Amino acid sequence: MGGRHLEKRGDDYEALKQRIADQLIVQVNQRLPGFADLVAYVDVSTPLSMQHFVGHRRGAFYGVPATPRRLFQPWINARSPVPNLYLTGCDVLTAGVVGALIGGVKTAGVLSGPLGFVRLMRKMGAL
Ligand SMILES: Cc1cc2nc3c(=O)[nH]c(=O)nc-3n(C[C@H](O)[C@H](O)[C@H](O)COP(=O)(O)OP(=O)(O)OC[C@H]3O[C@@H](n4cnc5c(N)ncnc54)[C@H](O)[C@@H]3O)c2cc1C
Repeated sequence: MGGRHLEKRGDDYEALKQRIADQLIVQVNQRLPGFADLVAYVDVSTPLSMQHFVGHRRGAFYGVPATPRRLFQPWINARSPVPNLYLTGCDVLTAGVVGALIGGVKTAGVLSGPLGFVRLMRKMGAL
């Protein structure tokens, strides 16, 4: 972490990123002709960017891998080992913006007591 590597990984690294960006634009342009002409600015993000800016382990784009195994881990939980400290967001359920949203509902459900999640979903008309 820290800013010491930011934009200082060397010319070879920048050239590799540029080649990847150029190739991606060529591929999109093949399917959507004219796309390349619309591109005004390009900046390529890599797993190193994810590790640096978001703190995700090994640069994983969505953080904890979104596999079925994830859901059975004891730490995928709104309750923390610290009394009265609750957790929320995508890491208490599943990945992405919707995962973070439902993670919020899960935490609110835990705070609402027995069957809290089900009662909240019913109130929202989701069940
Ligand atoms: C480039 C990019 C594109 C994405 N595109 C999509 C997309 O198109 N669709 C999609 O569904 N998902 C996308 N995602 C994933 C999505 O953004 C995340 O899954 C979602 O934001 C997770 O929400 P969250 O509230 O759980 O965590 P975050 O949004 O990561 O919020 C965590 C917060 O906690 C703060 N924090 C962390 N540590 C501490 C600490 N020690 N003390 C105090 N504060 C702390 C952070 O600063 C941050 O504000 C994308 C992610 C990235 C990086």
